[in-house]
Amino acid sequence: MTGKAKPKKHTAKELAAKLDAATTNRGGGKAGLADRSGVEKGGHAKLECPHCKVTAPDLKSMQIHHDARHPKIPFEEAKLANLHATHVVETSKPRPGVRGSLKK
Ligand SMILES: [Zn+2]
Repeated sequence: MTGKAKPKKHTAKELAAKLDAATTNRGGGKAGLADRSGVEKGGHAKLECPHCKVTAPDLKSMQIHHDARHPKIPFEEAKLANLHATHVVETSKPRPGVRGSLKK
């Protein structure tokens, strides 16, 4: 190998961006999975399909799912599991969709 190894420069802006990317909850990964499923935080997903346990945020979405997946079964709103009714929402937990920093 010839030549000198160039010292890699990190500007304060780059470092801040990296830190931000590492510590900001963007709803992805394992932590975001709980958000998306709505199990942990009682957030997005409201209704659960009684036939295949798929979750949907609202009745309309669930009906679309039902028509697509279970066309032979009559759609019964009463049979849907309302996750918001059965799960107690803990207000101390961060709400889904919040994009605040986890570390300060
Ligand atoms: Zn289903």
